[in-house]
Amino acid sequence: MVTAPTAVILGWPVRHSRSPMIHRHWLATLGIAGDYVPLPVEPERIEVVLNGFAELGYVGGNVTVPHKEAAFRAVTAADEVARALGAVNTLWLEGGRLVGGNTDAAGFIANLDEKSPGWDSTDTALVLGAGGAARAVVWALGSRGVARTIVVNRTPGRAEALAKHFGKPVEAAAWDTLPKWLSKAGLLVNTTTLGMAGQPDLSLDLVPMPETAVVNDLVYVPLETGLLAAARKRNLVAVDGLGMLLHQAVPGFERWFGRRPEVTAALRDLIVADIGQAA
Ligand code: NAP
Repeated sequence: MVTAPTAVILGWPVRHSRSPMIHRHWLATLGIAGDYVPLPVEPERIEVVLNGFAELGYVGGNVTVPHKEAAFRAVTAADEVARALGAVNTLWLEGGRLVGGNTDAAGFIANLDEKSPGWDSTDTALVLGAGGAARAVVWALGSRGVARTIVVNRTPGRAEALAKHFGKPVEAAAWDTLPKWLSKAGLLVNTTTLGMAGQPDLSLDLVPMPETAVVNDLVYVPLETGLLAAARKRNLVAVDGLGMLLHQAVPGFERWFGRRPEVTAALRDLIVADIGQAA
């Protein structure tokens, strides 16, 4: 029986993911017969599911929290970014073998290129957080030639480990040195969960930041975080995290369904409306 090509998103939990809505929008607007479905998998079962993925009949899929590292270990080959990050967020099959890539860094870059062209002309970027998203951001900053990236994290050891992993020009700094780094940073990126719905707010005094600075929050629920509101109040460029989510989805769709989709205002509006309903 011939069935329409179907991709999945593997995560735990995965029911809040906006990825099915994004990919189904592209399938519908491009007139492609296919589907994209959530596949919740508990951490204890992920290895078995990934090892048998090629037999499940899917064309590929995305991988989200907490399975990105397990996916990296399970693939038979990984692209350059996935190897640098030790994490896979996009899966596809080549000759029946499971292959992985990581599109988070490309999504981060495409979002800033779209919303704040020239953002990468800064000498110093300040990254808050040292988890999986921070890794992608730090790699992306290096790939665009940012001379110095300062990583500040609640747990200092994780920031130090991240700086060690990437080496110069990435440095770890203590949370209480933030005012000094804010005064030097042309780009501030929040990769912590602070500011997310249900989490404490990230309250920072942005007054020391240069007038030309760009502030990017990876959080996209809510769309307008306290950090972005503070940036706008100071007349800084404020970029939300939704664009990164939309842009990171493009390469996977193209691999699975054969057409390169576009990140349009209509798609953004669709997801914004969904976020609004969820809030
Ligand atoms: P993660 O690996 O769990 O890292 C979470 C980070 O948040 C860690 O640095 C953690 O610090 C910090 N943190 C958590 N609670 C904190 C608190 N109360 N005070 C200070 N720091 C705190 O998560 P992740 O995968 O990197 O994701 C981080 C955020 O990025 C999430 O909001 C996620 O939705 C967002 N994200 C967005 C996109 C997008 O496309 N826009 C993509 C990926 C991720 P410790 O190390 O001290 O625990």
